[in-house]
Parts: sequence; structure tokens; C-alpha cells
Amino acid sequence: MLYSEVASFYSKIEGTTKRLEMTKLLVEMFKHASKEEAAPLAYLTLGKLYPDFLGIELGLGEKLVSRALSRATGASLPEIEAMYKRMGDLGLVASELMKKRGIQMLAPPPEPTLLDVYTVLDRIARSAGGGSQDEKMAWLAGILGPLTPDGAKYLIRTIMGKLRLGVADMTILDALADAYAGGDRSLIERAYNLTSDIGEVAGTLASGGLEALSKVKPQPGKPIRPMLAERLPDPEEVLQKLGGKAALEYKYDGERCQAHLNDGRLTLFSRRLESITSQFPDVVQALTRSLKARSAIVEGEIVGVDPNTGELLPFQQLMHRRRKHGIEEALEEIPTTIFLFDVMYLDDQDLTSVPYLSRRQALEGIVAEGSGVGLATRIIVDNLEDFMKFFDSAISDGCEGVMAKDISGSSVYQAGARGWLWIKYKRDYKSELADTLDLVVVGAFNGRGKRAGTYGALLLAAYDKDKDEFCTVCKLGSGFSDEELSQLPKRLSEAETHEKPARVNSVMKPDVWFEPKFVLEVRGAEITLSPIHTSAFGRIRPEAGLAVRFPRFTGRWRTDKTPEDATTTQELLEMYNSQLKKIS
Ligand code: AMP
Repeated sequence: MLYSEVASFYSKIEGTTKRLEMTKLLVEMFKHASKEEAAPLAYLTLGKLYPDFLGIELGLGEKLVSRALSRATGASLPEIEAMYKRMGDLGLVASELMKKRGIQMLAPPPEPTLLDVYTVLDRIARSAGGGSQDEKMAWLAGILGPLTPDGAKYLIRTIMGKLRLGVADMTILDALADAYAGGDRSLIERAYNLTSDIGEVAGTLASGGLEALSKVKPQPGKPIRPMLAERLPDPEEVLQKLGGKAALEYKYDGERCQAHLNDGRLTLFSRRLESITSQFPDVVQALTRSLKARSAIVEGEIVGVDPNTGELLPFQQLMHRRRKHGIEEALEEIPTTIFLFDVMYLDDQDLTSVPYLSRRQALEGIVAEGSGVGLATRIIVDNLEDFMKFFDSAISDGCEGVMAKDISGSSVYQAGARGWLWIKYKRDYKSELADTLDLVVVGAFNGRGKRAGTYGALLLAAYDKDKDEFCTVCKLGSGFSDEELSQLPKRLSEAETHEKPARVNSVMKPDVWFEPKFVLEVRGAEITLSPIHTSAFGRIRPEAGLAVRFPRFTGRWRTDKTPEDATTTQELLEMYNSQLKKIS
């Protein structure tokens, strides 16, 4: 197939906004292509050379493209620049120049085929780091020279990342189904969901038909399109929808990550299927140590962990680490843990069609839990009470809610689909409590890493005025300046005691105890239930107290308040109840 033929299809496709018509043109185009041409044609039509997950860009700038155009057409650089200014599209400039030049050419060289063009672009892309700019310019000029005006136009647009025919992956899948499979999309979609590689799908289908396509398996190195969850607002409905019995997993609030292991090499992909390997060297290291398999594709959520309190951090802070810090600093400041919840491929075996419980068992078989790697906490429930108990502990452990998962024999991994096999249930909470709280320091935990020598976190309590007790409500580690932090042991020392003060009610055992004396102003995200804090214990639910989620020191020491003037557990109870009213 000549590239000019491809270009004339592109021209027609560009001319229509109707999806059906567009698909028809694509079908015709693929029917025109040979077996070998199907894959490059699929990529090129989407304006790429490879699947996105490889992250390879052509990377040719306007200057270099202009120089190649000048070499190929004889037009001067100022002339090209002036035309570009006027037309705003180097593709159109190329087409105009080719038209002019066409008249002057007596014996044009043979026209490049689709594969000729693809080969040159591939060479340019792969030489990104190596080959000199001059070399790339010469390769480009060489292939541009013998093209038709339309051919030059689309090639230039492709190179500059501006092809934009309005064709989406799904439209190509439709067209492939019509061109090669009598309209049957199911196997095509399956192969695409398992590989995220439209070229591989097109190539396999064109050369081996549906028979070959049905054998496509997940492959380490190619991200599987993620399975997605439906949502329900009511836990009872969730249970009902899943047949009365389901697996519940913590729904971690972090970054979804698919980890591919292949003979000791690990690659991480984001939910959007981009490689994030270099952003999480700590996760790579932890998984390399933990996974006992030759090859595997596993999935989990990467969560930031407060190195001082050991508590899970909200998603935003992990993102913050991405943007703000160099990786080295970030590793120290915000360590991560990946909580694994699925395995889709293991030692040459496709597990996507295996039911959830067997996948989970396989996952447990290859994961050695340890620093930086854990399995998603989970239970099997068949009643509302256990559901809510698990949900509460998920929230108090810093998760967003729970993910309920189907445990029937048909609970396959539905790559690329949102369905009812996974149902998320999370409580939406306001990002911040309207009021600040005044809480009493009753203990402290020694700091580690950057906080060695001072405290990593303080144990804070609210005042129970009925029992005249100070009941713990959170560990506070954030909101302090470096200077404040270094002063903490000295400042608090006058209240330090050897053992737990009688009026303190705590199940946690801090490294240092304090007599209730100092009151700090704290801002929090919400009040949650927690089995490890003692405020209003048993008042909302048996075996659970109230806790402040994501507490942050406002910088204000409430020296004007005695510990008995602090926020009371009764007030916390009211705040908790009014939160519920707002949500329902
Ligand atoms: P959402 O982003 O609210 O639609 O929720 C779905 C996301 O929850 C998934 O894409 C995962 O990133 C995340 N997640 C956290 N924990 C789990 C879990 N145990 N199972 C599945 N997904 C989880």
C-alpha cells in the first residue's frame, strides 16, 4: 500500500464527522492493507508509532521539520516560516510546497509505501538519544521528497503529533471487527483489553484471524486495561447485589499500580497505563524482594505512609511527593507501601478468567509481606453488622472505604470494564471539619529518620467530663515547623511522667507519657470510628471509639485553656452525629 493511498483515506476521514462513515472508510482502508501493514496502519492512524505505554515520542521539533521540508522542496527557511505563520499548520505548508514542486519535477523517484514511511519514522524515533539532529533531518527529507502533497501533509502532521483525524481506539476496534471478523468485536476487545496494544490486535487479526486472536494472553511489559468498580450508596444493597455474601477489601486511597515482573525485571504502570517505574524506585525494590514468581502481573494501590506514626497518608500527599521532591528526598520523607489486591498473570498462565477467590489464593502464594508490600486487608462477610465493622476499621486505618468483590465462580477479572463484580462503598466526607479542636497532649512517640532525637508524633486526648478522664483521639505528626519539632521534648518535659497518668484512658502505649497539661489546637478532616482510640468508646458502636482523621497542628498552643477546657468527648460525639446527618 502506498503512503499516498493511506493519505487519501485520511483526507476522506478528515472530511467526515459521522462515526459510521468514518468506520466505513477505516474498514475499506484496512481491507486494502496487507497482513504486514495492518499493525503499522493502526498505529499511524491514531497518530502514533507504538502503543502509548512504551512512552516513545517522535520528538521532532518545528525547526527540524522546517529544515527537512526546505531540503526536500528547495524552499528557503524564511519562505517556509512565512507560510507557517500564515497557515498555522506545517502540514498544509508541506502540501503547498509539494504542489509547487510537483510541476518542476521531471523524473520523480518511486513513491514510498506505508511500510517505507513507518520504517523511517521508527528509525527516527528509536534514535532519539543517539542519532544526530542532522541525520534525522536527512532521513525525513529523504522520505518527504517523493511523497504526494497529501502524503506530505499527513506525514508532517504525524511527526509533529498533530494528525488528529478524530479516530479513537474504539473506532479502530470497530473497523477491525468489520474488516476481518464479520463484525464480531468480542475477541478483538478482549485482546485489546489484555494488551492495550492496538497494533498487536490488528496485526494478529490480519495474519491469523480470530483463531490467533483468541490465543492472545496478558504479557508482562504490556499493561492490562484495569478492571473498574461500580458504586452503591447503601451497604445493604451492596451485599444484596453480590448475592448476600462477598469479599470486602480495604479501599486504599493512593495510586493504582500494575506491577509486571519478568525474569527479575519490574515495570510499574499507572491506572492510565503509563510507566511509573522511575517514580517509585522504593516500590520496585520492595516488590522485587517480595514477589516469589518468575513472571507475574499483579495489581495494588500505592499508599504514602507517615514514617513517624505509621499511618496511611491521604492521596494528595503522595501526589505532592511526585511533584515537589526529588525522588531521593521523597523516599525518605514519604515512604510507601503497595497493598496488592489482584494477580492477573502468573508464570505463563493467564489468570484473568479465573474466579476472584482463586486469584486471591494465587496472590497470597507469591507475596511475602514485609516492608513496603502488603496484601489488601480483607474478610468475607455475609451480614450487615460485619460489613459495617470492617468498614469502620477501614476508615480508621486511613482508607476511603471498602471494595466489595464478587466471590462466585464467575468472578473473573474484567479487564477494561466497569461492572458489578466489584462495588465500591465509600463515605464521602468533607475535606475539613468546620471547627478546630483543642486537644490535650498525653503521650509522645519517638521520632525516626529526620525526626530522630525529637518526637515523631504526639498522642492527643479529648476530655470526658462525665468520667473526668482524658481519652485518646489521634496521633498528631503534622503541622509542626522544624523548629517547633526540635523544641517539643524540652517544652513538654515538665509534664513528663514515668507511667500512664491515672486520668488518662488509652489503649495505645506511647514512648513517653505526659500529665494532662498542654492543650494544642488541631484541625482535622473528620471524626471517624476507631478501635484504638478511647473517646466515647462504645457509644456509637461496641468496641469502637472516636478518632480525628488527618489531624494537623494549627501552630497554636492553647495556653489560655486548662486541660479540662479542652474539646470534650461529648462534643466529638455531637460532631460525629452531625457529620452523618450531612451525608445522608
Ligand atoms: P474510584 O477511583 O473511586 O473509582 O475507585 C476505584 C479505585 O480504587 C481503583 O482504581 C483502585 O485504584 C482503588 N482501590 C483501592 N483499594 C482497592 C482494592 N482493594 N481493590 C480494588 N481497587 C482498589
